[in-house]
Amino acid sequence: MDPNNLPIHQIADAIAPSIRKAFISNVRRLRLTVPRGPEVRDALARGNTLAVSAALNWREFENKFVFAITPVLLRAALAAGETIAAKDHLQKADDVETLTDRVFRFIRDHPFFTSWVLAHAAIFVRRVSALSQQAVLEVIAGLTERGVPPAQAEAVIRSVIGLNAKYGRAVGNYYHGLRDSGQYTDAQVLAAVDTYAERVLRLQARTHARTQSMDAANAGLLATWQMAREQGLLGDDSQVRKDWLVTPDERLCPICAPVPAMGPIPLDWKFVLGNGDTVLHPTAHPNCRCTMRLVFVGKDGRFPVSPPVQPFKGKEPPKPRNLKPL
Ligand SMILES: [Zn+2]
Repeated sequence: MDPNNLPIHQIADAIAPSIRKAFISNVRRLRLTVPRGPEVRDALARGNTLAVSAALNWREFENKFVFAITPVLLRAALAAGETIAAKDHLQKADDVETLTDRVFRFIRDHPFFTSWVLAHAAIFVRRVSALSQQAVLEVIAGLTERGVPPAQAEAVIRSVIGLNAKYGRAVGNYYHGLRDSGQYTDAQVLAAVDTYAERVLRLQARTHARTQSMDAANAGLLATWQMAREQGLLGDDSQVRKDWLVTPDERLCPICAPVPAMGPIPLDWKFVLGNGDTVLHPTAHPNCRCTMRLVFVGKDGRFPVSPPVQPFKGKEPPKPRNLKPL
């Protein structure tokens, strides 16, 4: 089986387009709320960055985006639980069909599952919103500092909404670079910024979609294992554990590569990442494709050893030169 394309990746990839579309359409709707008119021009002219940002309807963006992605994330989490846990249980259960039936009736009706997804979706969306508000403030500050006319400033602000600070800065810098060069008309500059910002928005959307779909699918795995354990369908911590799987694509990721060295850990423990953060399940960073497997204790009382992962070595030091003889 291709370790870059496990069933968990297929589940994540199947829902990723819905997350991408929900993000883009809600960002576009939010962009329409960029205030226009004399008051905003006045605020921009006075350098009142907060007034401009505060006029945007971030709250509505958050609500609509959460509303759009919650059922999608729930679908991924449930599908992951169903597909993978069923497969894992095959090794243990005598009557597989009855067992998987019982587990899935249970997780579907279990409030924990839905509440995890709701909480997760809300946290994710607030973060996206907070990071973008920061990006917008930063860009407005740059625009007012350089005395950009309000009509142009409005267009640039609009194209930064929805992006995080790094991406927003890239758009802002691109605008200032073109404008400062003095080689283009205002219309040419704005058209070029618009095209570039569109590319950046699509990249941002893709990252959110990839990461959140994997995160939800992994959460579904873990929740299903935990619930199966509560139901007495799996053994306790001494018999069953979770193990971090780094996809070969990510072998050199300094955040993920060291994790499997921890070995299998109890379901409720947290994995320690290469950057010192701790998580209950992957993902570990934007675009992370890691997942987990369930491992059972062997007859010798030990858990199977994780597949070896090439550790992150960083750059090799330069080779010493041959010394000339004296
Ligand atoms: Zn990873």
